[in-house]
Amino acid sequence: MKRHPLKNVRAFRTALLKWFQQEGKSYPWRETRDPWAILVSEIMLQQTTVSAVIAHGRYEKFLQEFPDLKTIASASEDQLLKAWEGLGYYNRVRNLQKCAQAILGIYQGTFPPDSETLETLPGIGKYTAGAISSFAFEQAAPIVDSNIARVLARLFDFHEPIDRTVGQKQIWHWAGELLDPKAPRLFNSAIMELGQTYCSPRHPSCQSCPVHDFCQTREPMSLPIKKPRKQFLQVEEHALFLVKKDQLLLTRETGPRRKGFWHLPLRSADEVSHLEISATHRYTITHHKVTLSLYSISENQLPGGQNKDEQFHPLKNLDELPLPSPIRRVINKACESLTNSCS
Ligand code: SF4
Repeated sequence: MKRHPLKNVRAFRTALLKWFQQEGKSYPWRETRDPWAILVSEIMLQQTTVSAVIAHGRYEKFLQEFPDLKTIASASEDQLLKAWEGLGYYNRVRNLQKCAQAILGIYQGTFPPDSETLETLPGIGKYTAGAISSFAFEQAAPIVDSNIARVLARLFDFHEPIDRTVGQKQIWHWAGELLDPKAPRLFNSAIMELGQTYCSPRHPSCQSCPVHDFCQTREPMSLPIKKPRKQFLQVEEHALFLVKKDQLLLTRETGPRRKGFWHLPLRSADEVSHLEISATHRYTITHHKVTLSLYSISENQLPGGQNKDEQFHPLKNLDELPLPSPIRRVINKACESLTNSCS
């Protein structure tokens, strides 16, 4: 691994920390040293923006429902999915539960403080282990997320793809070298926030950047380099909207994408070819771009009859059921336009 090229790493740390102590943002997870609360925030913030996690008090509500390892360890699948609704990537909450069960089972409910041990727990990768270790226990563990990787690639004018093994290893190496061993919690928060603010992907504010004097790139917009992106998969869904006596027909999902959730019953294009489309909705989920055609039908129009995994649920109880957010929006819209069916 190449050593970092800074002449005065202490001066870099001082400039970064001084700026962060004056301007750093306050988030609920920055006000705590509870490793469980920090783990929850880190898992929520994977693949979800800060604003989505903050919105509707999702973080606080989740911690109110699951304030510690024991409460989540014994929760049902429905409770987990409902509490995570709106955040997507639901395997994250299942892994949170497995992780809590492992800490209770192996470590009698006490989080191990070092990142190497934390990394052996279910659902905890190198980044999350470093985050818990440094934020909760003030251990000198580096972290690299997309913000930090961008800052380091620009700071050292690094022209290797940061999402390939060689590039990743180099970035982690630099993150470890730069980390202030006397203030790991503050340093990791600061460098991450630099990437979220001054060193943003599209609008880096280099002139006013607190570490401008240390930065080696002259073309920040060309960095970081990444390997080509995965293409989106186009998916077509044909969903049925059938209300009978104030109850809506739903089916339980079994596929890997949204296992355990309820969904509108689906049929093939052939099975619904004789039906009229009531509405079309488009949404994106992970690498899928879904076009959902909705068919509002009566019971005698149900193609193929009612399947064994399909059940009617009272409309007034839908709020209690785990439903993927896009499907909840589709149902709410269908109810708005068919107020008689849903009243
Ligand atoms: S000077 Fe510009 S490119 Fe360099 S770290 Fe600051 S914002 Fe990023």
